[in-house]
This record gives sequence, structure tokens and C-alpha cells, in this order.
Amino acid sequence: MCTFPVKHSVLPMSPMSATSASRTFRNAAKSVIRIPAEWFAARCGPHRMGSQEPQLWILMYHRILPKTDPRYALEEPGMIVEPETFKLQLQQLKRLFTIVDLNEWLEAKTSNSELPSRACAITFDDGWLDNYEYAFPILKQENIRATLFAVSDMIGTNRQFWPNQLSHLLQNDPNDLMEMDWLRPYLISGEPPSNRESLARIINELKHFPDNQLSDWLDSAQNLFTQQQTKPALMNWEQLREMADSGLVTVGSHTCNHFRLREDLPLEVLEAELSESKKKLEAELSREISLFCYPNGDLCEAALKRITEIYKAAVTTQTGINSSSEFNPYQLSRIGIHEDRSNSPRKFQSRLSTWL
Ligand SMILES: [Zn+2]
Repeated sequence: MCTFPVKHSVLPMSPMSATSASRTFRNAAKSVIRIPAEWFAARCGPHRMGSQEPQLWILMYHRILPKTDPRYALEEPGMIVEPETFKLQLQQLKRLFTIVDLNEWLEAKTSNSELPSRACAITFDDGWLDNYEYAFPILKQENIRATLFAVSDMIGTNRQFWPNQLSHLLQNDPNDLMEMDWLRPYLISGEPPSNRESLARIINELKHFPDNQLSDWLDSAQNLFTQQQTKPALMNWEQLREMADSGLVTVGSHTCNHFRLREDLPLEVLEAELSESKKKLEAELSREISLFCYPNGDLCEAALKRITEIYKAAVTTQTGINSSSEFNPYQLSRIGIHEDRSNSPRKFQSRLSTWL
């Protein structure tokens, strides 16, 4: 059965992040003392302290885009980091952590090999074209390894994720949008639906519906898609292969179609999303695919059971630091990084603390 408790019963965060200091600083974030709270978290968080046991930070990135790119304005703020920010973050990470390849760290853990006391792995979700255009050159310049979780049936196609289809739809005249029964409840009078903050809010509210329902609604609005992107959203197989062949990028599966692994997903679809994506990536890239990433962080018990049979490890969207002693390789915690909350050393390191 797919339940929210399963989704949230992930690894406990590190002992430090579970302390009352953590709660205190999270609350402080909502108040006028945000800047000093960030400063303290950045200077004194677990990423700055010694630990008795090895710890693993896994950073979650989605898109790397400069503000000048037309795709920037059509995306939710929580999805983007600018290239210059990304580069500065990698340079900071080098000073704070041993940067590792996630797969290699997991293999060392399994074989009881020595682990660095503070390790950090970089991950990218989905397989966005901008990862190839902007992130890959920076990974090469900085000689840093990363893991990219690809949606196998969308690589090399013009298919768009539903939030991006919605983003294009919301560029239309608000009067036309109000005609849509399914969308009207989420439109606020006087608020331009096309701005990025509105987009993020509407996406968040629509996430309660199953993927097939969202897909039906968006299909019914096809006549309003007048500003479809001409460029594919995701990279193609040659680009993904080049990244994998560079030795810097390990590829993992992020399902075939990015269906969320909820209880309402038919079991035969669930099985195909898990096993066919692995097969396709292995055939296209000529290498073993052993890591998995849950779309939107959703998982149900049936998915979790099957993933443990097919993959060696899986990453969630649950925020936290993975500690060696309380370790669940199928529910690895990550820290989501996006521009607004990480575009200065203080903000970035306060994110790394997980206190804010
Ligand atoms: Zn995703």
C-alpha cells in the first residue's frame, strides 16, 4: 500500500540535525533573524564539524540555466541553479568535503572499505538538455563526478514534463485559462498566472492528482499551446552517452515516463517503469545501471519492494544527511539545491547544514 508514512519514514537525519538547535533555526528562518540564522548554520552546521562516523551528503540539482536563457522564465524557481552559482558551489564543496561518485561510495560502504568522514555526491534529476549544455562543461573544468538520473523514454524526444506543459499553457490569456474547469480553481484573480511563483504554486496544488489525470487535462488544452518550445527539453542519447563515457557521470534510472510511484499506479505500469527503464539505459549506454531515483520523491510499498530486487540503491527527495550507522540504501536522503536559496556562500552552506 502506498502511504505517505512510507514516503516519510526515510532515514533519520544526522544526530546533529535532529537536535533542538535544528528546530530553533528552522523557525528562525521565518523571522527577521534569517540572515544571522543562516550565518550561524553556515558556520556551525554538521558540514563544518567532525563526526564519529562517516556521513554522506547527496545534493539534488535539476536544471542549470543562466537568467538570460529563455527557458529560465518558464521554469519554477525551485528547479534552477545558474551556471556561475553552480561553479562557485562546486569550489566550496571541494573545500568542505571529499567529493565522491555516489556509486563508488555505496560500493565502498557495502564492502566495508574505509569511507571519508564527510563525503558529498552530486546528483541531477531528469536528464535536462541544459545539464549537458551548462553543467557538464563545469564538471569537466572542476573535474568533479556526478550522477544523472535519466527518464529513459523521454531522452532524445520532444516530450515535455507536465509542469512544463502547464508553464506554456499559463502563458495564454488569463480569460482563456478561466474557461478551463479543471484549472479555474487554481487561478487567483489579479495574479498573473504566467509568473514563476504562480507557476510553482499551481504545480504544487495539481500534484495531488494522478499523472494520467493531469495528462488528460493538458491534452484537452492542446489548442492553446501556441508557444511550445522548439528545442527538446531533455538531452539526446548521444549527449547522455558522451557524459557517461567521460568517466565523470554515472547514469541512473528515473523511470521510463516519470510516473510517480504512487498506490494508484497500476502494477504492470509500475513494473515497466522500473525494469524497462533500466534495460533501455543499459542497452543505449552499454553499462550496468544500478541506481534509481523516485520521481517527485513518491514511493509506495510495491515500488520499494521491487526496487530492492532490481537496483542497488535509490535516492529520495527527503532532506537529510546519510549517516553510516543508520543507513538505508533504498531511501537515501538528499538536499535540494536551487538558486534562490543557495546563491551566496552563506545561503549555500546553511542549506548544507540542513538546519534551515
Ligand atoms: Zn524528476
